[in-house]
Amino acid sequence: MTDERIVQWFGESWEAPVCDPEQEIAVPVDRPCVRCGIYLLVDDQGLAIPYVDPLARELVRPGDELPDVAWEHLYFHRGCFMEAIRD
Ligand SMILES: [Zn+2]
Repeated sequence: MTDERIVQWFGESWEAPVCDPEQEIAVPVDRPCVRCGIYLLVDDQGLAIPYVDPLARELVRPGDELPDVAWEHLYFHRGCFMEAIRD
């Protein structure tokens, strides 16, 4: 099940610790990779990284929990994510 508050993954497992079977999601083929801008394909591997729009944080009172709708996933190809964290 998709949970925007946690790191999830898609595609064939690459046996990394992140590839927890409990956190596998369907390939988000309607979404682009945020690094390269190319739409994800059904045979791609990649990661779904939690993100909160800074505006959503401003709208929540300090101490209050962010509502579920404030969270979204940013999708990366596996290779693009590795490049992103090296930069
Ligand atoms: Zn990419």
